[in-house]
Amino acid sequence: MKTLYAIFAGLIVFSSWPAGAQQYPTKVVTMIVPFAAGGPTDTVARLIAIPMTNTLKQQVIIENVGGAGGTIAANRVAKAAPDGYTILIHHIGMSTAPALYRKLPYKPLEDFEPIGLINEVPMTLIARQNFPPKDLKDLIAYVKKNKDKVAYANAGLGAASHLCGMLFMTAIETDLTTVPYKGTAPAMNDLLGGQVDFMCDQTTNTTSQIKAGKVKVYAVTTKTRVKSLPNVPTMHEAGLPNFEVSVWHALYAPKGTPKPVIDVLVKALQAALKDATVAKRFADLGTEPIALNRGTPDALRTHLKAEIDKWSPIIKKESVYSD
Ligand code: ASP
Repeated sequence: MKTLYAIFAGLIVFSSWPAGAQQYPTKVVTMIVPFAAGGPTDTVARLIAIPMTNTLKQQVIIENVGGAGGTIAANRVAKAAPDGYTILIHHIGMSTAPALYRKLPYKPLEDFEPIGLINEVPMTLIARQNFPPKDLKDLIAYVKKNKDKVAYANAGLGAASHLCGMLFMTAIETDLTTVPYKGTAPAMNDLLGGQVDFMCDQTTNTTSQIKAGKVKVYAVTTKTRVKSLPNVPTMHEAGLPNFEVSVWHALYAPKGTPKPVIDVLVKALQAALKDATVAKRFADLGTEPIALNRGTPDALRTHLKAEIDKWSPIIKKESVYSD
């Protein structure tokens, strides 16, 4: 009886695979990055793609689909074939977009199969090297006084750099001119070139420029200081009490991707979270792999819902919208 039951259960599992998917993956898997190449999300994607490739025994390639604060890429994956060959890496923007976009063409909680969380990345408030203010208090006074002259760079409505900038403007009760890019990699280029004045971006993109002294840093946005930048104060210490934001990343597949395929992707993610090179590179860049029990579909589903519930009222209060 037991054997019969096992065979029956096995048949059910087996029949939930689409035809030909038994050996998933049999070809290249594309991980869509919703921002420009060379930026913070791209960096995380490329680092985890290596151990994922080793586990899947198929190449995980990165495709950068920037624009509209990450929503173009997310929409593309929401509409992709649910076969495990197109997956999305996205960050906190997955939870802020529903409040920011009146006509978001996808539903973060309904149109994806969550795979798991990857990491949380602190942000840093930085400026072009020759920007006059020398510390955060100075910066606040300076931008308030010169609000029509200063330019804040971000990666579009829905990007982490947008969220951080919005929180900053709220905290100092001043509206500033923002310049949107397809990612903070191109924004950083313009900051280095002096075309824009300041931005708030993840340590995965700013650490090397800060350490090389090519940009000015005012503060980190986490509650405690970041190990890789021990001399940089927190926003709280530097003069903006309770200012806190960090950027979580996660992986998603289109809704309807079969469970056995998701299981394989979860295994590949877990291998990446345990990978020594990923841990080392993450540490250099101010982040660390998430605990293994959070690199799962259930943990991501719960986290995404909690983050949507957390950010929606904050954003709606600010009345920042796009169609
Ligand atoms: N994560 C974005 C990027 O990779 C930037 C952002 O969200 O602010 O460029």
